[in-house]
Amino acid sequence: MHPKIIILLIIFLFIFNNLLAKEEMEIKIISFGQIDDFILDYLKENLERIFKVPVFFGKGQAIPEYAYNKKRRQYLSSLILDGLCKIKQKDEKILSLINQDLYVPKLNFVFGEADPVGGVCIISLTRLFPSYYGLKEDKDLLLKRTLKESVHEFGHLLGLKHCANIKCVMHFSNSILDTDIKDDDFCNECKRLLRLDK
Ligand SMILES: [Zn+2]
Ligand SMILES: [Zn+2]
Repeated sequence: MHPKIIILLIIFLFIFNNLLAKEEMEIKIISFGQIDDFILDYLKENLERIFKVPVFFGKGQAIPEYAYNKKRRQYLSSLILDGLCKIKQKDEKILSLINQDLYVPKLNFVFGEADPVGGVCIISLTRLFPSYYGLKEDKDLLLKRTLKESVHEFGHLLGLKHCANIKCVMHFSNSILDTDIKDDDFCNECKRLLRLDK
């Protein structure tokens, strides 16, 4: 075969392979402890809409007590992500949920954390409930916040960094007010980086 044809063939196979790889992406949701079905169903429907990939549920896990810090009365999110990496399949992308407060050493708390190398992320529901702030429960608000934090962490998982646009889902939430201000979707620039704007 002519060398040029071989090179073209290699390029074609490379592109084709990448196209397939993108199409094959799926999001697996894993719950630590009890998470209500109405939250899981809402997440599945909306993550499929936003990321345009299938979303399915993995086997539920027990609350990871090994990550509990008695002094802080919080769970170390990085340890939970390490644990998830050990049980996941090689190419899986996992979004996990827990209704316990999370932290990393340098911060008072985190809404969630992502490990893009490991392909795993986690969000905490604890500070998304209006009742956490002494307010009346509001299911719609809880669902919106849960979706925003999930999309945010999954965005990190796909390689996105924090975005300066306060309406973009990739804007960093210092408090729940930041979460309430931002949308559940990516700004055009973040979409371009993810190639979700096609
Ligand atoms: Zn972030
Ligand atoms: Zn953005």
